[in-house]
Amino acid sequence: MGTEFRLILYARDAQRAERAAAAAFARIAQLDQIMSDYRETSELSALCRRAGSGWVPVSSDLFRVLVVAQEIAQRTNGAFDVTVGPVVRLWRHARRTGEFPDAERLAKARALVGYAKLQLDARRRAVRLILPGMQLDLGGIAKGYAADEAMKELRRFGIERALVVAGGDIVAGAPPPKAAGWKIEVLPFKPSSGAEIRQLLLSRRAVSTSGDAEQFVEINGVRYSHIVDPRTGIGLIGPSSVTVIAPTGTLSDALATAASVLGPQQGSELIDSVAGAAALFLWRDHQGIHSRASKRWSSFVGRRAILSERGGGSDARKANGER
Ligand code: ADP
Ligand code: MG
Repeated sequence: MGTEFRLILYARDAQRAERAAAAAFARIAQLDQIMSDYRETSELSALCRRAGSGWVPVSSDLFRVLVVAQEIAQRTNGAFDVTVGPVVRLWRHARRTGEFPDAERLAKARALVGYAKLQLDARRRAVRLILPGMQLDLGGIAKGYAADEAMKELRRFGIERALVVAGGDIVAGAPPPKAAGWKIEVLPFKPSSGAEIRQLLLSRRAVSTSGDAEQFVEINGVRYSHIVDPRTGIGLIGPSSVTVIAPTGTLSDALATAASVLGPQQGSELIDSVAGAAALFLWRDHQGIHSRASKRWSSFVGRRAILSERGGGSDARKANGER
């Protein structure tokens, strides 16, 4: 999945901790084999090779991710859309060459995008991509799902007090002993940008940050993100960062990508409409750094003074910029 997964956990003894961690990492590796669009051998790649040729039965993991992806695609009118693969590939190429995607190619790629072209049959647990050449891209949701599944694996070993960190996607279980929650710092942009560091206190919740701090291409002075607006086929113009808290990692990951596309106004409306979700939008222009928080955001913000009295430091830094 192109990221490093880290586990922090409290267990009764070292042996149990090691066995649980090994099982969680094995589960993550299994999901990478299923959902990677880089691996030719992944289930996802095999499914895409059969685009345009009817229904294909899939694993329950792939099906479950696609169900959530389609729910969010519908709720966001396609701002989040896992059929965006052909367009994402053109922008990956643009990141290497520094050149704007070719207009003709972009038009062809866009014709293959649209969540209505991806059909799911729950009864048969089968998937159909209606046009040949379609490419699914789970880069905006798979890490969150894998983090959720890793947490479930730990729970099977009786471990509740744990944190799963998958780059910009974090799933928090029950708090560490004697703590009210896991302390997580959100670092938008580079530390040198002067942006305020926000401290969150989370338990049994997930948090994801999406943005263009790490992956973008600059063409003629304009900065385009690796997140694209499926409706235009163009990379989002940055710099911006969205942090979303949600009940599961699958949701926080997908919602953070979706909210990035929607922007602060429509994005906050989306987040307010999802039970237990909150978001912080940050964006920077020539006037400086701007922010907008959704309704529930403040209920997750840890109080800095109290945190530092308890010894300071954070359990995880969500660096959405340079570490
Ligand atoms: P990151 O990969 O940096 O953690 P995200 O979770 O926001 O960030 O996912 C971005 C990835 O999602 C892109 O690299 C691409 O693979 C995919 N993607 C890009 N635009 C969209 C979109 N509009 N809807 C769904 N997935 C997208
Ligand atoms: Mg995401």
